[in-house]
Amino acid sequence: MTEGTGTAGKPIYQRVLLKLSGEGLLGDKEFGLDLAMVERVAGEVKAAHERGIQVCLVIGGGNIFRGVSTAAKGMDRTSADYMGMLATVMNSLAVQNALEKLGVQTRVQSAIPMSMVCEPYIRRRAVRHMEKGRVVIFAAGTGNPFFTTDTAAALRAVEMNCDALFKATQVDGVYSADPNKDPSAKRFDRLTFSEVLTRDLRVMDTSAIALARENNIPIVVFSLHSPGALAQVLERRGLFTEICPDSDQE
Ligand code: UDP
Repeated sequence: MTEGTGTAGKPIYQRVLLKLSGEGLLGDKEFGLDLAMVERVAGEVKAAHERGIQVCLVIGGGNIFRGVSTAAKGMDRTSADYMGMLATVMNSLAVQNALEKLGVQTRVQSAIPMSMVCEPYIRRRAVRHMEKGRVVIFAAGTGNPFFTTDTAAALRAVEMNCDALFKATQVDGVYSADPNKDPSAKRFDRLTFSEVLTRDLRVMDTSAIALARENNIPIVVFSLHSPGALAQVLERRGLFTEICPDSDQE
């Protein structure tokens, strides 16, 4: 992959995975889904897809259920995590519905098979869907408790041979501290995986970082708050932080 604006002709990225947290679908709500937000996200994905980029998605479930916090209140962790994974299926179906309303063909593939609702996760089939111009949404995380959808995103990005993993967050990149709490927090344009780990920057959980690092998949952290943000960042414009393999350091 090369640097450049990508405005003319061929997109810079051929295939990408977009990770959306459940929080990103909350909008102004405290819990659940804001359908206006879901539609906005779908519009962003459609714009990227229309540029000829193969797009797959992993969606979190934190807007509905987070296993670890419920386990802390006394529930069995594995059961709580399965509930969290089911929450990601709900979000995936909502985004699928919004995309299809916009005329984008999609398939949801779940790591926990539920044949009445969606396809099971089958790697080769997912690749084929993307080759045919369908957006694939990977639901139910990794299918295993004690993991997160960040790790699922890194895993699927590796399995799908993606050029990069795009992580949409509430802020426009990786900062040295939480910019909402510390006004002196510095934003990074570029980091290596080693820097993320040694500085203990909370970008994604360490298993996700380790997977991306071992497989040389860059992670691009950006914010979906302004309309057109995904299409922009796919052309390497606007604000974002790129986390790249240690060997790519300039
Ligand atoms: N989860 C899990 N295994 C996975 C992915 C998710 O057990 O591979 C559960 C876990 O309980 C997690 C919840 O699903 O808290 C929702 O996912 P996550 O917290 O990653 O969502 P996000 O923070 O991205 O909204």
